[in-house]
Amino acid sequence: MKVWVDPERCQGHTLCSMIAPEAFELDDIDGHSSAVFDEVPRDLEDKVREAAQSCPECAIFIDADSCDRKAEFEKPRETTS
Ligand code: SF4
Repeated sequence: MKVWVDPERCQGHTLCSMIAPEAFELDDIDGHSSAVFDEVPRDLEDKVREAAQSCPECAIFIDADSCDRKAEFEKPRETTS
């Protein structure tokens, strides 16, 4: 199982690293998350899935595109100009 954090979506809520501290590390400066492993060890897969489901920004992708809410974020964003 592969995991990837989209840096554009991550807002540094830290939930992922609270759920799976072995699998996600937070940047010291902006608090944004990145995956420790490209290929998740089997014993951490459940925790990584839980973290992905809990991410408020839907920034965690497992096996490329299994995020349930991905479609919401692919809609064009409203711009204020
Ligand atoms: S829970 Fe989501 S938004 Fe929060 S730090 Fe983790 S990846 Fe980023």
